[in-house]
Amino acid sequence: MQYDYDLIAIGAGSGGLSVVERAVEYGKKCAVVEAKKMGGTCVNIGCVPKKVMWFGAHIAESLRDAPDFGFHVERKGFDWSELVKRREQYISNITTWYGGYFKELGIDVLEGWGSFVDEHTVSVDGKLVTAETIVIAPGGTPFIPNETENADLGITSDGFFALTEQPNKVAVIGSGYIAVEIAGVLQALGTQTTLISRKDLVLRGFDDMVRETLTDAMIESGIHKEYHFKVKKLMKADDGTLTIESEDGQHLEGFDEVIWAVGRETLTEPLALDKVGISANGRGFIDVNDYHQTQVPNIYAIGDVTGQAQLTPVAIRAGRYLAERLYNNQPELKMDLSKVPTVVFSHPPVGVIGLAEHDARKQYGHDNVQVYSSVFTPMRYAFTEHQIKTALKLVCVGEEQKVVGIHIVGDGADEMLQGFAVAVQMGATKADLDATIAIHPSSSEELVTMR
Ligand code: NDP
Repeated sequence: MQYDYDLIAIGAGSGGLSVVERAVEYGKKCAVVEAKKMGGTCVNIGCVPKKVMWFGAHIAESLRDAPDFGFHVERKGFDWSELVKRREQYISNITTWYGGYFKELGIDVLEGWGSFVDEHTVSVDGKLVTAETIVIAPGGTPFIPNETENADLGITSDGFFALTEQPNKVAVIGSGYIAVEIAGVLQALGTQTTLISRKDLVLRGFDDMVRETLTDAMIESGIHKEYHFKVKKLMKADDGTLTIESEDGQHLEGFDEVIWAVGRETLTEPLALDKVGISANGRGFIDVNDYHQTQVPNIYAIGDVTGQAQLTPVAIRAGRYLAERLYNNQPELKMDLSKVPTVVFSHPPVGVIGLAEHDARKQYGHDNVQVYSSVFTPMRYAFTEHQIKTALKLVCVGEEQKVVGIHIVGDGADEMLQGFAVAVQMGATKADLDATIAIHPSSSEELVTMR
């Protein structure tokens, strides 16, 4: 049977673009379907604009601490709209580049919503195209809890990136990656920020040392933290500001914006999965096997829609491996999701690979786990008014003390982790780290000198 394409990816985000890009290297005819913008969440409303704002926030923190290093600086203001304008221009350059690059590669970009007609046919806003292989990669979208009254008075990370003026006072609801990243940026750039958690510490699931150190640092930075605050409803006051009411009747008032950052959901609805007999699982994700294959043999799913770690490099790896398996005779190539390094771009940042102490003790037995940790004030803050701690932890198992987890919270964690992730990937032991000569003075030297 002749198809229009060898492979069609639905979604031109990190996963979809990676699979078609690699497939054309092997001479395959490919198309990618996209209803919004090339690059998906990461480029347009995720990693890229977030990192720009994070750099801006860092500059604000340097200005804050500059007098402690002898600089006489007068901060005359910060133009949020200027930063946003430059950020969006940068993103627009990236997406324009994508368009040209894909044309050069001979990949067709089909604009519109893709939905299944049958196992080999996709409708793109009504126009039918066929492919031997179809890859579902639609990504996700921020979630707003529907049990909260007037929840949609709040915005999400999408709305945060659409703000062209700096809000004076903002509440961020949530405790995960997005909540701590957005709250950190807002506070550093001068917005009065409240972080609302329904529990206590931020970053549930991370190592306790990370959670405690980051929560303390956020409070030290001036963020107002509300603990055990379960949001019942949002209300708009006569002056246009927002009030948040908790289930136990507390009120927080006067917010220009309330930002929901309580997780993301998938975008499976427009796909008409029922036409091919695929259904999303109870959590809304599409189940795949180790090879990212759905229950329909020629249909694969990659990226956030699978419920695997919602991280750009994970989606990219999944896309490339899929193309290698399909078209480069590497049928057994599988992803190792047990050692995914991840960085939370909080203030200070967090870098983690492998198991948290509590998970290692559960997995290997309490007595088989050895932990080394260090908490200190790095030299950067030795004599500044603001004292931001760094905390490091190695989680090791067995007699050989294999390193199964590295946890870093502190300035530089974001750039420190990648190299250590290589060591963990290679199966490094504590002795291997100890045998490495330290770099002095640095924070990372602690990781090779812990006793
Ligand atoms: P996360 O899953 O990271 O965190 C959501 C948290 O919000 C939950 O853990 C929960 O914490 C809290 N929460 C859930 N429901 C409610 C509620 N109704 N009220 C109050 N709090 C609630 O989701 P995010 O949206 O932050 O991010 C989604 C994913 O995107 C991340 O998991 C990550 O994979 C990815 N991402 C990665 C980034 C990076 O690599 N730097 C940056 C941004 C996102 P608790 O249970 O403690 O209350």
